[in-house]
Formats: sequence, structure tokens, C-alpha cells
Amino acid sequence: MKGRLEELRRQAEAELSAARSRDELSAIRTKYLGRKGLLTAVLRGLGSASESDRPALGRLSNEIKEAVSSRIEEEIRRLDEEAKSRSLQAEKIDVTLPGRRIVSGNLHPITQIRNEICEIFAGLGFSIVEGPEVEFDYYNFEALNMPKDHPARDMQDTFYISDSIVLRTHTSPVQVRIMEKRKPPVRIIAPGKVYRCDSDVTHSPMFHQIEGLLVDRGISFGDLKGVLTSFARQVFGEKTRLRFRPSFFPFTEPSAEVDIQCVICGGSGCRVCGQSGWLEILGSGMVHPEVFRIVGYDPEEVTGFAFGLGLERIAMLKHGISDIRLFYENDMRFLSQF
Ligand SMILES: [Zn+2]
Repeated sequence: MKGRLEELRRQAEAELSAARSRDELSAIRTKYLGRKGLLTAVLRGLGSASESDRPALGRLSNEIKEAVSSRIEEEIRRLDEEAKSRSLQAEKIDVTLPGRRIVSGNLHPITQIRNEICEIFAGLGFSIVEGPEVEFDYYNFEALNMPKDHPARDMQDTFYISDSIVLRTHTSPVQVRIMEKRKPPVRIIAPGKVYRCDSDVTHSPMFHQIEGLLVDRGISFGDLKGVLTSFARQVFGEKTRLRFRPSFFPFTEPSAEVDIQCVICGGSGCRVCGQSGWLEILGSGMVHPEVFRIVGYDPEEVTGFAFGLGLERIAMLKHGISDIRLFYENDMRFLSQF
């Protein structure tokens, strides 16, 4: 009987060493320790052993039973550990790997320059207003001192919707709309899209302008110069030189076009400035008394100045861009540079 017990122990240990899963271990437990198990059967047969052998055999069989049982527990723990470390290995995160790059977009260069210019004028006390892009002929022309037969209308290649409705050719109609609604003082800028029937490397049928208007008692041409000089220096640099050239607009008198010293050649003359050393950046002037009369302001009481500038032109000069059409082609190689 002792021999049988020793044999069962060896057999069980060999099987346990070969076991590779919980199921196999649990089958071994049933095979040896279950109610109909091999060791159980031997223990049941203890009764038939001689009285003197019985205690020793009892001890031995209990010892084997416990050994097998604890070996099974041990194997189960080992398998669990192995499974755990395998899954840890599989789910391991390498924190030293470089992160995934998030491609971020950016504002369109025209939007950027508009925001920049709006911020500069906001700093000078101007508030931002807007007006319609589909505009009455009245606001686009007539109220700006351009009656139907006025020759200045020929300067603007207008898109007509009907006889009395146009796509606005400039942001100046916003001035009129604001002055109709507000009493002086007025200090506004109006950014927005404008439309002209014109297309080449420096002209687009749709482009952007910013209109400015300041009306109060005692506003002089000196105020105009001061505000526009401060603006140009904030955009193009503190040392930027300006030149005010007499010009003509129906809605301002006197009128002036404003040039800055060429940002490309510094004034010595190049292709961009047509060898003149100067670049035109905006049109301006003192508001025409007739415009004040049309909106119900008294030109004896108040004076003011207005100016308009093209955002594309400012962006082209600032960034050295030679073709206006690049702004509208949505080419990422171009847009992502800003
Ligand atoms: Zn130049």
C-alpha cells in the first residue's frame, strides 16, 4: 500500500509539471483528490491495512494529499502570475514614444491682417461696425456726393443687381448709414468685402476694405495725419516714413492718398514700387460738407475725416506677396505660411 501511495505521488507530480492551464490542473485535482479520486480510494482502503501499519500509512497519505493539493494551488498561482505579466507586457505603453502630431489650422492671412488693423484702430478709440454688401445705389454713390451723372462713377466698375441696387464697390456707404443713425461724435471703422468688375494680378472682383470715419467738433487735417501715421507705423514699423499726396474723391475735400516708403527697397527704387521708392496704401480726406448735409449734420458745427484701405494690398506689401489671386485659391502650401 505504501508503494501504491508513493507511485501516486510521483504520477501526480509528473502530471502537475506538465499541466499548462487551469483546466488541466482542475482535472488533476479531480483525478486524485475528488470523491472518486485515486488518493481518496487509497485512503478508503486504509481500513483493510494491518492495525500496526495504519497510523504510518494514514500520515503518509495525508501528507501526500496535502502535498498534491498545495502543489495544485501553487501551480494555479503561477499560471495567474504568468497570465498577468503577459497581459501587462502586451498592454505596455511606451511613454518615450513621440506623441501624434496635431495639425492645427490658422487664420487666413486676410483675416489676420483685418484683426491686426481692427486692433490698432480700437487702440485709437475707434469702434467696429458693419454694413450690407448688397447696397442701394443711394448709399454706395448718391449719399457720397456722386449723383447719377457724376463722372467719378466711371472710376468704379460696378456690379449692378438692378438700377437701384449694387454690390457695394467700397465700404464707404457704411459711413453714411452710421451718420444717419448717430449724432456726432462718431469714431468708427468698418471692415468688409467689396466688389468690382476687375481681375488681374493685383485686382480681384471681390476684395476687402476697411473704412474709417472720425467726426467731431474741431477735427482737422492734422488729426487725419496723426491717426494714419500712427496706424502705418504700427503695421509697417516705427521708422516708416509717410507721404500725403493731394488726390480727389467726391466725398472728401481736401483729399489725400497716403504712401509709405517702399518696404521692399527702403526707398531706393525697385520693381514693386515702380522705381519711385513709395507705395500707396490708402485714400483719405476731410469729409465733404455735402455728405454731412445729406446725413443731416451741420458742416459749420462738425468736421471729420475718412479713409479707406484695401486689406489685400496691405497684406501683399507686408508679406511680399506678388499675386492677389493666391489669397483665394485655398492652396495649403501658401496659407500655412502665415
Ligand atoms: Zn521699392
